[in-house]
Amino acid sequence: LGTLQSLILENGYLDFPEHFYQRNTPTSLKGAHLISFNPEVARLLDLNPCKVNPDELAYYFGGGGLLPTSQPLAMKYAGHQFGSYNPDLGDGRGLLLGEVVNQQGERWDLHLKGAGKTAFSRFGDGKAVLRSSIREYLVSEAMHGLNIPTTRALCLIGSHEYTLREGMEPCAMVLRVSQSHIRFGHFEHFYYSRKHDDLKRLAEYCLERYFPDLIQESDPYLAMFREIRDRSINMVAKWQAYGFVHGVMNTDNMSILGETFDYGPYTFMDNYRADFVSSHTDHQGRYAFQRQPDIVLWNLSCLAQALLPLTGKEKLIGLLDEYKSLYLTAYYQLMRKRLGLQVKREGDDALVDQLITLASAQRIDLNRFLRDLCSFEPSQQPSLDRCLSHFGQAAPAQDWMFTYGNRLAKEAASPPIRQQQMRAVNPCYLLRNYMAEEAIKAANQGDYQGVNELLAVVRKPFEEKAEFAHYAEAPPEWASGISLSCSS
Ligand code: AMP
Ligand code: MG
Ligand code: MG
Repeated sequence: LGTLQSLILENGYLDFPEHFYQRNTPTSLKGAHLISFNPEVARLLDLNPCKVNPDELAYYFGGGGLLPTSQPLAMKYAGHQFGSYNPDLGDGRGLLLGEVVNQQGERWDLHLKGAGKTAFSRFGDGKAVLRSSIREYLVSEAMHGLNIPTTRALCLIGSHEYTLREGMEPCAMVLRVSQSHIRFGHFEHFYYSRKHDDLKRLAEYCLERYFPDLIQESDPYLAMFREIRDRSINMVAKWQAYGFVHGVMNTDNMSILGETFDYGPYTFMDNYRADFVSSHTDHQGRYAFQRQPDIVLWNLSCLAQALLPLTGKEKLIGLLDEYKSLYLTAYYQLMRKRLGLQVKREGDDALVDQLITLASAQRIDLNRFLRDLCSFEPSQQPSLDRCLSHFGQAAPAQDWMFTYGNRLAKEAASPPIRQQQMRAVNPCYLLRNYMAEEAIKAANQGDYQGVNELLAVVRKPFEEKAEFAHYAEAPPEWASGISLSCSS
């Protein structure tokens, strides 16, 4: 494992014609300094976390200078934003610095977010503020800890620069790490600009890099779409199972790898509400919690449309038609696991639905409830009382607990084994908005301890730790008043 300077960056995207991207260099941040660094991600890049120098991180990932082999570029893409096609998108404040190929042969893109203006900045200033950078940095690790597919981040860099968002806010950069930064919107760009040869080149590139096993199939493009569909289903089923609301599911924010991507006004819901809208700029509630699975299907339809020049319409529609049933299978499987039901039995899906209806009607904190449910023993009254304490109206909850208790009796696993299995899928810690807010408030004053503590809390969400006990408690009153915008 080496040092930053030993990193060798390739950039396969440079082999495309020049209209696929703009070559650009980062704009340096004044007073760039390291706020937080993720040793786990360092290891993915074959960096020795002990040998990584904070000043070097701040220099290279605060836009101070380029790693010797880096040839950064801003990618061109387009996409549907809130239902309307926008041809004018692209990396407007992020640069792909290059790709690291690690010892396992994995390729990892290094993407510097907040790196300054590019040809695709439109009216934007090319900057990212500390608030949104902290949120992205922390949640990507929280998602990874929950086994929800996501981009990662190596480090978070602060500065002495300010820009106008919700008032003047400090600027920052995040080094985002993922196997790919190609979005549904990349394909839409070439489809709608009628550059179908380029569309094909892009699809071939993706097949070779990300889906090599599919090249053998009789229709590799169709197989790739099927794979993207399946990964997207896995992703959104997990969002629904853990109460995660993305907030801005535009097609330019959908990764072809089915990773949660481009974090903005996201929320892990404190109180469960099927119609929860995370971003106050989403007036129509297009991206409300319960709509997310349908929106993923809508976004996949946009991608299918863009692939029409490459494969058959009927077959694409056939794959879209299978979506709903695949989604439901994935979702109920996750929920059964959260309930500690290892083998599917008749009535299980209804049991899940009843709980969700109750949770939504009574606005309970479903994640905290399910953590308490891990300790439920039908014969032990205190464990039942603890579960019931989540509900304002006990009677319907009592009925549910009774049915659930009977269902548990049919499980083969002994209670201790079941409880252990349940604790491995029901988190004790989530990155709740109020936690991020507190860390952001302190960080805006130059105190980064909260950010680093939260990183430690969320990275292992299933392991209860005495020193983190307060993070498992009910959110404070003011948490429900937090308002999030797209401004970042
Ligand atoms: P987002 O809402 O972050 O997914 O971004 C949508 C589009 O706006 C993308 O093309 C971004 O690159 C661009 N964008 C967002 N914020 C900025 C900014 N501050 N400066 C320049 N471009 C931006
Ligand atoms: Mg975006
Ligand atoms: Mg964004």
